[in-house]
Amino acid sequence: MNQLSTVGFPRIGAQRQLKKWVEAYFKEKLSMDELQQNAAELRKQHWLLQQQNNIAFIPSNDFSFYDTFLDMAFLLNVIPEVHRNLNLNKLDTYFAMAKGYQKGNHDARALPMKKWFNTNYHYIVPLIDGQTRFKLNDIKLFDEYNEAVALGIKTKPVIIGPFTFLKLSKIDTKDKTYFNYGEEITKVYSDLFARLNKLNAEYIQIDEPILVTDLGKEDVEFFVTLYKTLLQDKKNLKVLLQTYFGDIRDVYEKAATLDFDALGLDFLEGGKNIKLIEKFGFPRDKILFAGIVNGKNIWINNYQSSLELLGLLERHVDRDRIVLNTSCSLLHVPYTTASEKQMEKKYKKHLAFAEEKLKELNDIAVLLQTDNYALNKKYEENILSVKEKLENNVIFAENLRKDVAGFLDADIVRQPSFESRIKEQKERLQLPALPTTTIGSFPQTDEVRILRKKFKNGEISSDKYNEKIKEKIAEIIRLQEDMGLDVLVHGEFERNDMVEYFGENLSGFLFTQNGWVQSYGTRCVKPPIIFGDITRKKPITVDYLAYAQSLTDKPVKGMLTGPVTILNWSFPREDLPLSDIAYQIALAIKAEVQDLEARGIKIIQIDEAALREKLPLRKKDWHHEYLSWAINAFRLVHSSVQSLTQIHTHMCYSEFEDIIKEIDAMDADVITFEAAKTDLSILDVLVAHNFRTEVGPGVYDIHSPRIPGKEEIKEIIVKMINKLEREKVWVNPDCGLKTRGMQETVASLKNMVEAVKEIREKI
Ligand code: GLN
Ligand code: ZN
Repeated sequence: MNQLSTVGFPRIGAQRQLKKWVEAYFKEKLSMDELQQNAAELRKQHWLLQQQNNIAFIPSNDFSFYDTFLDMAFLLNVIPEVHRNLNLNKLDTYFAMAKGYQKGNHDARALPMKKWFNTNYHYIVPLIDGQTRFKLNDIKLFDEYNEAVALGIKTKPVIIGPFTFLKLSKIDTKDKTYFNYGEEITKVYSDLFARLNKLNAEYIQIDEPILVTDLGKEDVEFFVTLYKTLLQDKKNLKVLLQTYFGDIRDVYEKAATLDFDALGLDFLEGGKNIKLIEKFGFPRDKILFAGIVNGKNIWINNYQSSLELLGLLERHVDRDRIVLNTSCSLLHVPYTTASEKQMEKKYKKHLAFAEEKLKELNDIAVLLQTDNYALNKKYEENILSVKEKLENNVIFAENLRKDVAGFLDADIVRQPSFESRIKEQKERLQLPALPTTTIGSFPQTDEVRILRKKFKNGEISSDKYNEKIKEKIAEIIRLQEDMGLDVLVHGEFERNDMVEYFGENLSGFLFTQNGWVQSYGTRCVKPPIIFGDITRKKPITVDYLAYAQSLTDKPVKGMLTGPVTILNWSFPREDLPLSDIAYQIALAIKAEVQDLEARGIKIIQIDEAALREKLPLRKKDWHHEYLSWAINAFRLVHSSVQSLTQIHTHMCYSEFEDIIKEIDAMDADVITFEAAKTDLSILDVLVAHNFRTEVGPGVYDIHSPRIPGKEEIKEIIVKMINKLEREKVWVNPDCGLKTRGMQETVASLKNMVEAVKEIREKI
């Protein structure tokens, strides 16, 4: 039978134990020893579980207290001086790099975080600078290997490869780029190989996901040189080059000739990998780790497709040289559907989380060696389940399908043009120069959280709940009037989360109790599952907004989450193209926009916090595979409004240099975004591209409790109006205030409003 493997396993614990332990350790409620012991116990459970499920290639070192990329930096001794100089023990130095360190007269900032390819996981970006001396610094990798050996399990240790490490690190030296570090870094990897050889390790998995992105000629040469050197030192150790999230078209031919013992390819997101094998063949001396069970989705595997795929592979690779693998680490899916006690069977049977995926690998291996697998009971059941989901008419909204298929270009073009409607809007709204506003949410106090919980548990009636929420709305409207803000918000007290809240009010979404997935550090999110066609059950925010507007003469911004963000922060169904799902959500949110407009709301903000997140990894695919429909979906939401209604949008990042045209093409009237942290460099980009939409680049960072001073904000505003047309500039914080405390929020906003007032007097 084919051997089985996983690229990595979730590490947070089925009940998010690791999160709780790490937090307790920070609060000094758990000792370092206890933390280490607990972690070892968790690793043991994960290894044993995989062993029980016949996984031959069980990963180790996929565990981490914070982030495996940071672990790699630590292992390679890539530790910034500020953190080293804190003179802490190893673990605390590590946490200082991850989270920053402020104690006594020490003040070391955390390393920045970035999105891990096209997932919602974030890795810590190591800093390589003049002080960096590469050497083998940490023994976690070897300790964990030994730990498993003591349990009778010979694991396959997992590390990030040198190429991906260098490409994704920040290199802050005057005259060096990552090409200059090849030799130094190779030495450390050789030492690491030597240590593993001493321990009699059989395999090592080297993750090089950067290989699925666009690589230039120089990159490819660098990759080849790097591994030619490195692989000379592998001795008895077998080296698996593991890739995921796409195909490796730029290096496949080269990788096939290098001295790797095995190649790990993703045949799901990397559909083209099969074409590469068909074209160039697969080297006879290597093992193929075939990624066929999806590490990113939560749906049951389609055995028919998997077996057909394996059939194609077998034309080029002998069966006994194929290892059945997950497409990427299972880190990106929750633990087990068994924890979903409240979920109805009819839904649950369509889902496979990490544990269920282990079973699927087993099933596929069994079926593969069954002569007439089509007659096998497991196969038949699987075929039925897959088919049933596609045909389940409970989740099929026929009229909606027609609407999605039938919308016209005219439905996504707003009339009249930006230039003429913005004039009408200015006349109607009569806002002062440099209007001030916020992004939507105000601090979510314990009071609000408890209230929501009580409502969810049925402890208070919906009338009582609404009454309370409205009290909060009235309070926050008064507060904003007192502070002198120009465009007010209702505060979003009714929302726990900007996606979940809308999901709960739309049909077609399914929620889990324990479907946690790691997002950054030990923080997790619980993405809803898009199960069926999406329609609006009833008006969602309209009552709250109309109420808020009735309390004030100033305009109150309606606050909605956009279709692309709702889609990107959910697990999507796979029987429909993503574009169709986005259009379905767009039509639902559009109905909400129309209702808000009808109830007298003059400004409506449609948040697209996550628009950039699912941009394809290869630039060539940006447009036709994503941006074209993503932008259309957004336009479908708002294009039908009257010229007098002002449409805002908000995004959580400012790195949109390369998609700036598309952002303008969303055809909103105003966009607010994060800019405070990036030195306002975005302003030049806006100028260079003649950006048409009005802009509110955030004037202070809400991710920190720090209160920005009035003068500091004035300076920023002056910079903004020196570069941009003053008539186009809005003044606001850089994101929602939900995670902040009330006191600092009021102090910060007051400074912001004062700063604007003083500038207005001068202009
Ligand atoms: N309107 C949302 C808020 O203020 C936006 C949040 C976000 O951009 N992530 O909370
Ligand atoms: Zn934001």
